[in-house]
Amino acid sequence: MDCLFCKIINKEIPADIIYEDDQVIAFNDINPQAPTHALIIPRKHIATLNDISSEDAALVGHMVKTASTIAEQMGFDQDGYRTVFNCNEHGGQTVYHIHLHLLAGKPMGWPPYQETLKKPLDQ
Ligand code: AMP
Ligand code: ZN
Repeated sequence: MDCLFCKIINKEIPADIIYEDDQVIAFNDINPQAPTHALIIPRKHIATLNDISSEDAALVGHMVKTASTIAEQMGFDQDGYRTVFNCNEHGGQTVYHIHLHLLAGKPMGWPPYQETLKKPLDQ
């Protein structure tokens, strides 16, 4: 399968792996958007959040639990952090294998939607 993150899982492409177990792996983002920016991905290929079945609920829960475990181990759990799943075009998804972004190290901005990008309905 021609999937970048499956290739990282299969060790065909190198990554800076910070955690792995039988269900998920986590590695540092190649283009970090915060002082700490890791991605937590399932070993199972799932293209988008829309493709998650009820059978995947425990797996996705484990992804979230892995994020909080990494936060605790790296010592930013009390300062806080941001977790994000992007889905499809409007969500800003660019790699079609689900991944949970874990961002930390500075206060995060909110909201992500920029009002200046909004266009009138008649345009
Ligand atoms: P998204 O835009 O939500 O699909 O996020 C994809 C993320 O994958 C981006 O933050 C990229 O910087 C990151 N990324 C792309 N290629 C790699 C790679 N080879 N190793 C680590 N992170 C990557
Ligand atoms: Zn994949």
